[in-house]
Amino acid sequence: MKQASQAQEYANKQETLKKVFGYDTFREGQEEIIDGILSGRDLLAIMPTGAGKSVCYQLPALLMQGITVVVSPLISLMVDQVKALNEAGVHAAYINSALTEQQVSKALYNAMCGRYKIVYVAPERLETDRFLEFIMNVDVAMITVDEAHCISQWGQDFRPSYLKIARLIERLPKRPVVSAFTATATEMVKEDIMCILGLEDPKVLVTGFDRANLYFEVRHSKDKDAEVMAYVSSHKDESGIIYCATRKNVDKVCRMLQDNGIAATRYHAGLENEERKNNQEDFIYDRMPVIVATNAFGMGIDKSNVRYVLHYNMPQCIENYYQEAGRAGRDGAPAECILLYSPQDVLLNEFLVENKGQNTEFTEEERALIRENDMRRLKAMRFYCATKDCLRSYMLSYFGERGVKARCENCGNCGADYEEKDVTLICKDIICAVQECRGRYGANVIIGTLRGENNAKLRTYGVNRLEHYGAQRGASEILLKNTLEEMLIKGYLSESSDIYRVLRVMPAAQDVSDGKVKVLLKWNGQQDGTKKARASVSAAKGKQQTMLTGKGMALFDRLRKLRMEIAREEKIPPYIVFSDSTLVDMCIRLPFTKSEMLSVNGVGENKYARYGVRFLQCILDYTDAKKEKYYFD
Ligand code: ADP
Repeated sequence: MKQASQAQEYANKQETLKKVFGYDTFREGQEEIIDGILSGRDLLAIMPTGAGKSVCYQLPALLMQGITVVVSPLISLMVDQVKALNEAGVHAAYINSALTEQQVSKALYNAMCGRYKIVYVAPERLETDRFLEFIMNVDVAMITVDEAHCISQWGQDFRPSYLKIARLIERLPKRPVVSAFTATATEMVKEDIMCILGLEDPKVLVTGFDRANLYFEVRHSKDKDAEVMAYVSSHKDESGIIYCATRKNVDKVCRMLQDNGIAATRYHAGLENEERKNNQEDFIYDRMPVIVATNAFGMGIDKSNVRYVLHYNMPQCIENYYQEAGRAGRDGAPAECILLYSPQDVLLNEFLVENKGQNTEFTEEERALIRENDMRRLKAMRFYCATKDCLRSYMLSYFGERGVKARCENCGNCGADYEEKDVTLICKDIICAVQECRGRYGANVIIGTLRGENNAKLRTYGVNRLEHYGAQRGASEILLKNTLEEMLIKGYLSESSDIYRVLRVMPAAQDVSDGKVKVLLKWNGQQDGTKKARASVSAAKGKQQTMLTGKGMALFDRLRKLRMEIAREEKIPPYIVFSDSTLVDMCIRLPFTKSEMLSVNGVGENKYARYGVRFLQCILDYTDAKKEKYYFD
């Protein structure tokens, strides 16, 4: 009975979106997914991190009769989600190893009495007697599998306990709707999810991987420390993550920031559990705006107001980079993702790939295959750092998205001041030199040969006897290097996937040699290849803030302080009270009444009931109840 009345309470999806979650409109894919679920169809949704997966199953869960069980691998994520739901006035609970047996019993008892519409559960718990007793005796409307790629051995995070989900579904007296969500898009993982979970004629929806609010940039950095310091100092009030490849770098960068008066903390697997947990909480609760971390940090963190993600080192693959960078701007407001690149990063990553998993139980053959795949992914990452074309389009194409625009106008490369230089002649010489060397050497030897360098190494190789030795004597090393990289990216050359990266000429190069195609290089004439992107960075910098006038910014700061005050009282992270973009919307709309406040994006009935009046009062005090325009068009 209780469940039926709850279902009636939320009659309509649009109204529920506004009332419960506080959003005016659905994001791409959300409505289609929700409609699919509500029509009773199984579903597989592939959406990038931050696209808004949770609403896709939480909202229909409220509209359906019965309970929705969400299987989720991460305790921190469950805790966060349940907190956010409770804040929004939805009763939900979680079952995981962080609870005592008594707490588990109580939560399941409450769930059986119909007090919760949504129950989160860790996969390990699915086959416990207590959980089975519960699930066999309630009306299960839907089983939702979050991070569904964990079911696949092809995925990077295979969890055997995920295999329990399919067994559980089979045992249920009535088959519920099964919905699966993931951000991993490869075909094999997709097929595994559908097969292993036994999805029946599922609706499969892949939403665009683009995150339009994220600005991407690669900086070819000589002094990364100075770069990080300058960036963080000019974004003092903003929350940011700095990823480093090694624990040592994490410690070093964190210390540097602290020594320079920045409230920064750190996270890596070498710290004691207690310290790790505290540091993570300091960051989530905005007590420390900056966290320096290895890639161990981030799974299950859905802090929505991260305004920037810096990479101190190049990550090992685009998949990891997009996931880590994607932790910026989850609230939809503009955020920056900047990768500080240096050639040493490639060596470091090659070392990490070479030394990965040596002690595991893989066979020699399997290890070789894994290594080759890793090297292939690393190469794509390197090309991301080298390309002069649109960074967004590079990544989206990598993820197999079709119809990607050639320019996004919101990345360092689109904003950079490049001219197009015809490098066809250089390319022809490179092709000849590689052919003359008969696939024995890598880029450095080829470039040295073309420039006619006279050093011991080249003399030993005997390249000074080649016909093309010195063919590009006057050209700068950086120009040749950039041209050669462009040829790799365009597929005119390829390189071996071992550490020697020996060059080979590809068939496509014939058209260049024959003069059928011209090769144009985006070039700004700078010696170190640094892009002249700074102007565009500051233009792109925190669009959300630059949209507000000085007075608007001051109000935004006040609202943030109030949010912090409430978060402390309620012991919840500030972004669960309201996201940054909701506060900005308040500064733009200047609500003075309840109905005006309810029109702010991100303010639902329940949040209004809890905090609305305090925010209204703050706005009224600040503006003296006079409507002015606090933003630029
Ligand atoms: P994911 O699980 O896909 O990584 P989340 O479900 O955590 O993403 O959502 C990311 C952010 O987007 C959250 O802060 C959430 O509140 C916000 N969000 C989700 N749907 C909407 C919407 N329709 N309008 C505005 N913000 C939304």
